[in-house]
Amino acid sequence: MKKILWRSFKILLSLLLLGAFAFLIYLKPFTPEFWSERAKYERSLWFSEYGSEQIDAWRAAPSIARADSLFLDLPVNLQVGETGEDLSAWAYHLELKEGQKLLIEISRDTADLFFADLYFKEENGKYSSEATLKSDSLAYPVLESGVYLLQIQGKMYEPFTANIELHTAPIYDVFPVAGKDNRAVQSFWGAPRDGGRRKHEGIDIFAKKGTPLLAVCDGEIRRVREGGLGGRTVWLYDSELDQSIYYAHLDEQLVSAGDYVTAGDTIGTVGNTGNARTTPPHLHLGIYVNGAVDPYLFVKRVAEKAEPLKNTEQLTDTLSITERPARMYFAPRKEAKANAVLVAETAVKVTAVLPDYLQIKAPNGRSYFVPK
Ligand SMILES: [Zn+2]
Repeated sequence: MKKILWRSFKILLSLLLLGAFAFLIYLKPFTPEFWSERAKYERSLWFSEYGSEQIDAWRAAPSIARADSLFLDLPVNLQVGETGEDLSAWAYHLELKEGQKLLIEISRDTADLFFADLYFKEENGKYSSEATLKSDSLAYPVLESGVYLLQIQGKMYEPFTANIELHTAPIYDVFPVAGKDNRAVQSFWGAPRDGGRRKHEGIDIFAKKGTPLLAVCDGEIRRVREGGLGGRTVWLYDSELDQSIYYAHLDEQLVSAGDYVTAGDTIGTVGNTGNARTTPPHLHLGIYVNGAVDPYLFVKRVAEKAEPLKNTEQLTDTLSITERPARMYFAPRKEAKANAVLVAETAVKVTAVLPDYLQIKAPNGRSYFVPK
C-alpha cells in the first residue's frame, strides 16, 4: 500500500515538474510578450466559441505579415483598419539607432480594440518582444541600433480603425548647452585625435565661454574632477538607462559629487580646460555604458511632424488595378521597388492608407505598398 502511494506521489510530482517546465519553456512568463494585451487575449481564446482552425489563423497572421518585410521611414502617419471579415495583421519594420526615442501615438474610437507590440529583430532573424502598447502612446528609448518591428492586430473578426503617428525624438529632451542646438556640434564621434592615435569618443559642442551647461536628465552627480585631458569635468549618472554622461573642458563646475539634479538644471559652464586650452571653448559630451557610445542621437534635435493623411476613405476599399500592370513597393518611397507587379484588373484590398501610398493585400495574400 505504502509503495503504491509512494509511486503515485512520484508520478504526480513528475507531472507537476513537467507542467512547470512546459510553462517556463513554452509560455515564457518572464517576457513582456506574455503579459501583453495580445497574449492575454490569445489565452482567452482557448475558452471562446471559435474553432481551433480560426484561432490558429488569427495566431499565424502576424508571422505572415512579418514575412512581407514591409518597411516604414520615420516620421510617418498611417491609418490601418479592418472590416472584421479577415484575420489579418500589420507588421512594419523600422530602422532605429541607439540614442533615438521611438514615439508611437495612436488615435482611435474608444470602442475600437486592437493590439500594438514592438519587437527587435535579432541577428538570427527571430523577433524578441520589446514593448507592448497599454495606452495610446508609447515612448521607447532605443539602446540598440537595428531593425525593429511594429505589429498591429485586431481581435478575432472585430472591425477597427487606427490612426498611427510614428516619429523619433532624441532620448534626452534637454540639449546640454543652453541656447544651442545641432548647429553648434562641430566635431563628431570617431573623428581622429592625436594624429590618428585615438578616436574621438564623444561630440564637441561649441559655445561662448561661460554659457550654462545643463543636465540632460534627472540623476546623481557622481564625480566632479579637475585634471587630465578633460580638464574640469562632471559625471552625471542616469539611473533609468544605467549610463553616465560626461561633461568635459568646463570653465566652472557648479555641482558637487552626491548632488541630485533635475533635467535642465545648470551644472557648470562652457570653458576650454584640459587639452582644449588651445581651442575655442566647447563642451565635450560623452556617454558611457560599458565603454563609450556615440552621444549625438541622444541629444540631436529632429523635425517631428509627419505629413498628414488625406483620402483615408479608401481604407478597406477594394481597388481594381487599372490599365497597365502596377508596380509594387516594400516601403512607401520610389527607391523601394519590390520584385512584383500586379496585372491590370486585379482586385486588391486596401489595408492601410499613407500620405502618398496605399498598402494593399494582393490575391496571393502578400502585402505591398502602391503609389496612390
Ligand atoms: Zn571632444
